[in-house]
Amino acid sequence: MRHGSESLLLPALSGAFGDDADAIRVGDQRASREAVLSAATALADRIAGSDAVAIWATASMETVVAVVAGLLAGVPVVPVPPDSGPAERDYVLRDSAASLLLVPPTSEGTAPLAEVRVPVAAVDLSARSATSCPEPAPESTALILYTSGTTGAPKGALIPRQAIAADLDALADAWSWTPDDLLVHGLPLFHVHGLVLGVLGALRVGSRLAHTGRPRPDAYAAAAGTLYFGVPTVWSRVCADPSAARALSSARLLVSGSAPLPLPVFEQLAELTGQPPVERYGMTETLITVSSRADGERRPGFVGTRLAGVESRLVGEDGTPVAPDGESPGELQIRGPMMFSGYLNRPEANRESFTSDGWFRTGDVATIDPDGWHRIIGRASIDMIKSGGYRIGAGEVENALLAHPAVREAAVIGAPHPDLGQQVVAYVVADAVTEAQLIEFVAGRISAHKRPRQVHLIEQLPRNAMGKVQKKLLAGG
Ligand code: ATP
Ligand code: MG
Repeated sequence: MRHGSESLLLPALSGAFGDDADAIRVGDQRASREAVLSAATALADRIAGSDAVAIWATASMETVVAVVAGLLAGVPVVPVPPDSGPAERDYVLRDSAASLLLVPPTSEGTAPLAEVRVPVAAVDLSARSATSCPEPAPESTALILYTSGTTGAPKGALIPRQAIAADLDALADAWSWTPDDLLVHGLPLFHVHGLVLGVLGALRVGSRLAHTGRPRPDAYAAAAGTLYFGVPTVWSRVCADPSAARALSSARLLVSGSAPLPLPVFEQLAELTGQPPVERYGMTETLITVSSRADGERRPGFVGTRLAGVESRLVGEDGTPVAPDGESPGELQIRGPMMFSGYLNRPEANRESFTSDGWFRTGDVATIDPDGWHRIIGRASIDMIKSGGYRIGAGEVENALLAHPAVREAAVIGAPHPDLGQQVVAYVVADAVTEAQLIEFVAGRISAHKRPRQVHLIEQLPRNAMGKVQKKLLAGG
């Protein structure tokens, strides 16, 4: 009998690309695909029949093996962020009702509710287990991924096997991703970007993978990859280390996503590495739906065009269609084969998130050019500021501030105001510049109603593990 996840991860795991002894590297750990499959098969036999299995998702080979084991066994896998505090951890474990928690032996002193520890090194790495689990249905849940919690409590999104397969195939096509690639990244293994694209993508495509443990510029440079993934904070750190950035000029493709890429970072990266990054847009719920292509144009400020099979449209606040004229903003709605099947335990969110004809409401405001290029303006609930009857996108104000050479980071929010409804307030990380100078600088770049009424200079912006700015913390403080 074919093993459960071969249809998802073949041909890479079947050895169709030969068995490179360090095809999969995570930090200092190295394994062939055969060894990963072998260890995962043995583990799959131990977890088969569980409702859901949680994984303390450290950046380790054990996490890779445990995720593959869940796919082989047809058991939904719930990656738990290893830097999460007890409250977040218990929330995810309770909400997902995972019956096992796999804890890699390498996790340093965390020992969270360690009912089950699975020392992967101790399972048989030499032979493939003879037993097999039945092939899970394509629509069955492969992963329960928690959203980043930018707008509220993280929500558990049920990700079907077929969505992962469809997304990875569309991305392989868009990015010309082949077995000849060496993918390098150091992103967390509990979100779509690091885990689905960054691990399952390499396994499905059959490319080699070097996970750098953390996304450090020197480690990126030393890995000599052909394909690199990063979130905007990673690319900004790479630009701050010009020798590392120049080392990436031999790479075939640099990909950015998960949060807005500031225009100056796009430009510096293009200058230092000789190639502008490919941007991509997606969500935990929809996986990646829009991207620029390896063989196509890279438009600064845009996240690309629809991937194969994806439909997108813009809808106004009154529910009427918004024309894709490149200027009119509307809520971005998505349909496509990479869609999640719903939120766990959230019937109300499930009802509210889909229209009656099956479109998913992203909650992001965007424009779409007549030729299909998407620009993400921001989240309707956080980044669209309503001030004195105007709608102002926080990103435009942030980019105006970032154009000042002293400004390193900027986040703009709408703070309550008695007359205007909201007023534009900026939080800026900068060297040697005053608030008054910044207000004057942006005055020359954006119209009067968009200018910040207040600019707060702060040490650093609050960010989560994916480098997303936690604006709800700025708004609260
Ligand atoms: P929560 O749903 O819990 O509030 P979250 O939306 O941050 O958290 P994710 O699913 O990790 O959780 O992030 C998806 C969001 O990230 C998108 O809705 C969008 O706002 C943002 N995003 C992703 N890629 C990009 C991009 N390339 N440019 C701008 N924003 C992006
Ligand atoms: Mg979200």
